[in-house]
Amino acid sequence: MLTTERSKLIEGMSDLEKVWDMVVVGGGATGLGIALDAASRGYQVLLLEQSDFAKGTSSRSTKLVHGGVRYLAQGNIPLVREALYERGLLLKNAAHLVKKESFIIPNYDWWGGAFYTIGLTIYDILAGKLGFGKTIHINKKEVINRLPNIQKKGLYGGVVYYDGQFDDSRLAINLAQTCLEHGAIVLNYFKVINLTKNEQNKIEGLVGYDVETNKSYQIKGKIIINATGVFVDDLIQMDKPGEAPLVMPSQGVHIVLDNSFMPGEDALMIPKTEDGRVLFAVPWHDKLVIGTTDTPLNEHCLEPVALQEEIDFILRTTSQYLTKAPNRKDVLSVFAGLRPLAATQNGSSKSKEISRSHKIIISESGLITITGGKWTTYRRMAEDTVDKAITVGNLEGKPVKTKNLPIHGSEKNIDWKNHLYVYGTDRSALLELVNENKEWGNKLHPLANYVQAEVIWAVRHEMARTVEDVLARRVRVLFLDARQAIDMAPIVASLIADQLRKDKKWENDQVQSFNALAKSYLLEPYPLPD
Ligand SMILES: Cc1cc2nc3c(=O)[nH]c(=O)nc-3n(C[C@H](O)[C@H](O)[C@H](O)COP(=O)(O)OP(=O)(O)OC[C@H]3O[C@@H](n4cnc5c(N)ncnc54)[C@H](O)[C@@H]3O)c2cc1C
Repeated sequence: MLTTERSKLIEGMSDLEKVWDMVVVGGGATGLGIALDAASRGYQVLLLEQSDFAKGTSSRSTKLVHGGVRYLAQGNIPLVREALYERGLLLKNAAHLVKKESFIIPNYDWWGGAFYTIGLTIYDILAGKLGFGKTIHINKKEVINRLPNIQKKGLYGGVVYYDGQFDDSRLAINLAQTCLEHGAIVLNYFKVINLTKNEQNKIEGLVGYDVETNKSYQIKGKIIINATGVFVDDLIQMDKPGEAPLVMPSQGVHIVLDNSFMPGEDALMIPKTEDGRVLFAVPWHDKLVIGTTDTPLNEHCLEPVALQEEIDFILRTTSQYLTKAPNRKDVLSVFAGLRPLAATQNGSSKSKEISRSHKIIISESGLITITGGKWTTYRRMAEDTVDKAITVGNLEGKPVKTKNLPIHGSEKNIDWKNHLYVYGTDRSALLELVNENKEWGNKLHPLANYVQAEVIWAVRHEMARTVEDVLARRVRVLFLDARQAIDMAPIVASLIADQLRKDKKWENDQVQSFNALAKSYLLEPYPLPD
């Protein structure tokens, strides 16, 4: 089996003489996509992530693989067509993580049914052969049948359309594994702290800092790619201090509720809320994810916190559409993510994202920065970036391979009812761990399905290093039910400590820091163990 052992990967990275074809900074969707594109074409690739893979925006999305209905409303047909094409490829290449989802738009006026049926039929046509299902108009009775908790007063009917739904951070982890399978080295907890240049002021490498050992490494690369999301300006400042900022963050918040608030298989799409935004309520891993907001901020960080008004907005809007109105105590988890907005010269932000499509910027030093886009289009963004890198770095051209490249774990026959489906082709090997230690078949929590073997698997094969890595981005319970995650932290810490040969102090520190973090995913106090 492929090695994901940190010490071996660092050993492979630290050859001082080695000059990588491309060094990618940032281990979210964008960076991992680029590393995979380049490695699968046959280039020598290194990727460094300062925290865990997908710790940033890439674990905090609405979990949609979509063309973007609102971009259609804005008339941005090329962008929608591109995203719908990528949606189709993702369904094929990550079949274990991406599924078709039906969305219902309820209509409370007489014209809405016709309007959205026509609009979404165009959406279907734009998807061509990679369509997910045909848009249909349904009557009031059918809407109530499919969404029993929908507000019935004034309801005329509804429109059903299809898009995709996925698990974002699990896809990121599987992308990291696929990168390794194609010969790249990818490392989490490795922060880029400086760029190095030659006498002509061209970038020739960078300094990577191992967050676990506090050791720095000089790394040489023909091309350095800045794929750091809302952090892109930090690297641009290393390259050219005083350069005007490229992006400003805009926060998007989601709340998670028990699925009894909206039972059934369908998702709800509210096309126009009180401030004109779209709001989704999407079934996800037996829970309901509702979001999002769009709040410009002046600062970026790895762990953004939802504002009171954002939570109020989501609860208020949800209550207008569902008969079982949620309130703060019903919220199982709340999470926030940051989009990069285009910054203006005076430092404020424009109201549109830097890119409903993506942008690639080449600095005088040769640094390539990519920003914008979305999870759904990560593959296309990567292809464009690597094509650009080949030109800028004067590298031998090699054709893109990712259109038909299966992502680690991809398989077709999936039992969506078994929570282990997210492991795809790894599921049987994960279950075999119980032969090594039968206790690993035990549950992590009496009210949840997760088993101890998933923690062992995450450490041995998915590069998890901390309790948070496991509970937030491998089994997702922090995002689904933060209280349950807090309950699980001690057993998870002890299992990880055993695998990584850490002492009791490490274990206790892990539980404490996880609990402190998990508190920010809760709206009501939860008694934390001492
Ligand atoms: C609220 C919200 C909802 C969304 N919903 C959807 C959706 O449903 N569907 C969809 O397709 N898209 C969605 N998107 C968009 C999608 O999530 C993003 O486009 C995507 O995750 C961005 O990935 P990224 O890799 O560019 O950024 P990030 O995921 O933020 O990754 C950047 C990484 O760079 C690392 N980094 C920063 N500085 C350094 C350094 N010095 N050294 C090493 N590493 C560093 C960070 O730690 C971080 O992990 C949503 C976005 C938001 C904000």
